[in-house]
Parts: sequence; C-alpha cells; structure tokens
Amino acid sequence: MTEHLNHFIEGASFEASDGRRIALVNPVTEQVYGSSARGTAEDVDRAVGAAHRQLEHGAWSQLDGAQRGRLLLKLADLVERDTELLADLDANAIGRSPVEPRRMDVPNAVANLRAAAGWANQLEGRTIPTGGYFGTKTLSYTVREPVGVVGAIVPWNSPLMITVWKLAALLAAGCTVVIKPSEETPQSALHLAALAQEAGFPDGVINVVTGYGNEVGRALCEHPHVAKISFTGSPEAGREIQRTAGVLFKRVALELGGKSPQIVFDDAPFDDALRGCALGLFVNQGQVCAAGSRILVQRGIADRFAAALADAARAVAVGDPRESGVQMGPVAKKAQFDRVNRYIQLGIEQGASLLAGGEPTPERGWFVRPTIFANANNDMAIARDEIFGPVGAVIPFDSEDEAVALANDSKYGLAATVWTTDLVRAHRVAAAMKAGAVGVNCWSPLDANLPWGGVKTSGIGREGGFGGAMAYTEEKVITVLLPT
Ligand code: NAD
Repeated sequence: MTEHLNHFIEGASFEASDGRRIALVNPVTEQVYGSSARGTAEDVDRAVGAAHRQLEHGAWSQLDGAQRGRLLLKLADLVERDTELLADLDANAIGRSPVEPRRMDVPNAVANLRAAAGWANQLEGRTIPTGGYFGTKTLSYTVREPVGVVGAIVPWNSPLMITVWKLAALLAAGCTVVIKPSEETPQSALHLAALAQEAGFPDGVINVVTGYGNEVGRALCEHPHVAKISFTGSPEAGREIQRTAGVLFKRVALELGGKSPQIVFDDAPFDDALRGCALGLFVNQGQVCAAGSRILVQRGIADRFAAALADAARAVAVGDPRESGVQMGPVAKKAQFDRVNRYIQLGIEQGASLLAGGEPTPERGWFVRPTIFANANNDMAIARDEIFGPVGAVIPFDSEDEAVALANDSKYGLAATVWTTDLVRAHRVAAAMKAGAVGVNCWSPLDANLPWGGVKTSGIGREGGFGGAMAYTEEKVITVLLPT
C-alpha cells in the first residue's frame, strides 16, 4: 500500500506549498511505502493562522471548560474505538510490535484525554488579600487564560502517546495547536486530527503540518503567533529550540532524553528486578526516553544478575514484528541503527564484557539484537550517553552511598528505579535521586495523573497530571478599586 499523507489544516488536507514530499521507509524491509508533505514556512503560517483565528474569535474561544471537557471525552471514545488502527499506524511506521502500543500507548492516550476532560473545568484562579490601593480597599483575583497557539513538536518513538500528552492538556486549557509530528511517523497525528474533527472540535483548533525539524519545527519556533513550544525529543534539538523560541520570549517546555539508572540492591526480589530491568531495557527496542539502561547492581549479585539479564536478552524473539510470536522488531531508522552499533562497538573497545547481543541479524531491516554488557563502569560511553536502542550496561557497586553517587553522576535526570525490600532504604534512595520520576520496585509508570519530565539535560517543565494542563495557562491578576 502506498500512503500519500498531507497536512491537516483547518479541517482540510493540503499538499506542501511547493509540492515537495518526504519518503516514508519501512524499517523491516527498507522499502519506501509512501510519502508525506514536506512542510514549508508558508504551510506553517497557514496552520498557525487557522489556530490563531480559533483562539481569538472562533467558536472554540466561546466554549467553557465543561464544553471543552465534553469534546475531550468524545475524542477519548473515538481514540479507544480506533485502538487497533492507531497502534498499527505507529507500530508499522517504526517497526515495533503492535502489541505494545495496543496495550500501553493507546490506552495511555485515552486515559490522558479522559483525565484532561476533568481538568478543563478546574483551572481556577485565586482571590488574594492585599493592602489596597493608596488607602482604598481593592479586590484582587487571578484568572487562568490559555497561553495561546501551541507548537507541539513530537518524536518518532511513541508518536500517538506523546502527541496526546500535549494535546489533551493544551485543549483542556483552551489553547489551539499546530502539531509537527516526526518526519518518520506522521500517520497517527493525522488520524488523531481527523478523529478530533469527527468528535466535533471546530476546524482550526487542531492542525498538523508534516515535515522536517529544521524547516517546519523552526518555522513554528519563529512564528509570531505561536506562544508556546512544547517539545519532546533530543537534547540537541531542544537546545536549538531554546535558542530560536527562547529569544522570542515564547514559553518553551522540553521533554528530552535520559540515561536512567536501575539500582538493584542485593536484598531485591531477584526475579521481579530482573523482569523490571528487562522491560525497562527492551520495550520498544529500547527507544524509550526512560529506558533503564544503566543497571547498577550490588556486587554480591552483579555477575548472577548480569548473566540472567543476558539470558532474558537472548530469549527475546527478534524479527518482523507483524509475525506472531515476535517480540522485537528493528530500530526505527538507519541513523539509529548506525548509532546503536557504534555504541556497542565502543562498549567492547572500552573494556565492558559483552554477554548477549552482537550476533548477526537478518540481511534486510535495521535489526539490533538485545545487548547486555557486564562489568561496565560509569565512565564508559555506554553508561554516559543515551543510546536509544536495546543496550544495557551492568555496573557493579558496593555500598548504598556509592550507588546513589553513581546514579546521580549523569548529565541526565529523567527517571530512576530502586529495587530493594528494605522500605527505609527505598525511601532514602528515592529522595536522593536527582530525577523527575523514581520507581520503587517498578519501572517509573507513565500515568495520566502523574507528572512526567526531567531535571538537568532531561528537560524543562512537566507534562501530565493537573499541573500539565496548568502549564498551558497564563495567570492574570485583576484588581478592582472598592471605594466606600
Ligand atoms: P529529535 O530531537 O531528532 O526530533 C524530535 C522532533 O523535533 C522531530 O519532530 C524533529 O523533526 C523535530 N526537530 C528536530 N530538530 C529541530 C529543530 N532544530 N527545531 C525544531 N524541531 C526540530 O528526536 P527523535 O530522534 O525524534 O527522538 C528521540 C529523542 O527524544 C531521544 O533523545 C529521547 O530520549 C527523546 N524523548 C524524550 C521523551 C520524554 O518524555 N522526555 C519521550 C520520548 C522521546
């Protein structure tokens, strides 16, 4: 099937203004299976114009929170109805097993839409007592207003789920949006926009412009009518966005990468920790911002744990993810394939012991076998850099203090997990983690009611939860003079 995907602007489909297109390549077969419009600054201007009209004086601007909430609930029902289709769109685009997005990404998106439907009617202001105005009493109160048109820039690894994190919250707040999906995965955002139209959102509230980051993404960051950029992706692109949008005083939220530690103490429930670490390493081929790729294990059990993890890695069925029984497909793109293999090579060269992985893969497709290194240390490239592939490094430690120091010795700070049966230690170590999310005996869950985001190079701001919706508002204070 050849897919021919276009922008979705003000409820209609558009080719790029100059007619150019981007090829879509299947990571399993390496064959071109379609194309998407290669957006231009002109296309962005058209989409932002539509979003701005709705925000300023369109039907959307007249809706109250409860009405926006009802639309969000309808959209949630439609996304749930199309679970299989949406999961397949995302899975096919990056060569992932559709089982994962059916069980995780799409239900998470539905939950986010339903949670946001409730927040839409709760974005309350405050009344604030003051000393008055030159001796005259006053009443001061605040209101929460939508921040404005949002540019939502999304990566390829979990396209629907990450798009909905942004969309649900910003719609709850009354904003409008231009979504820029990743050039590799525009499908689910376009289907989501069509579902929003079916749900009854006014045309122009949700627009999608497909294309490259340095073209469409940059034009969004520079557009005078875009008030906020909500970005998920690499620190490199995040830095560029800060440079472009930040100097224009746009609000910028950044959800960036990670190198998340899993700390396994010797009293941990061994099998649970093993399963959790394997999940945190291998789900979505390791192409997950919170992948638990630094596995710090107390020395007494480190060798046994690394060997068991290597067995788990070898047991993963790798192949065409559309075939039944296959658990892991290829990584999403050629550049990613080269990057992951380069890091595996670096791990070997820098002296870590390769326990699993490195075996030959099918001739076609960007397959990487699940890879486990033992006897790694925190200075190796495989422990310092985000690889974004199914590669784990087991690093032994002796004491709790050492584990905490190693865990925090990273430029990243997205997630961390502590595996132990000692409750006091669990809380102590969780408190000491410099990370946005900490799991105790579980991989940090992504839940619609919980905040998500990182510290240090892992980002700025939080998505999810009530605070996620508030982040798309501005607080305005109004003071009324009350002469007696
Ligand atoms: P990427 O930074 O290459 O691209 C992300 C998006 O930004 C794409 O839509 C891309 O076209 C666009 N973009 C790229 N350069 C841009 C620029 N200069 N201006 C504007 N837009 C630009 O990242 P990726 O390879 O798609 O995704 C992988 C990265 O995303 C990893 O680092 C991963 O950790 C991170 N990620 C983070 C989270 C989180 O919640 N913290 C979730 C998923 C992925």
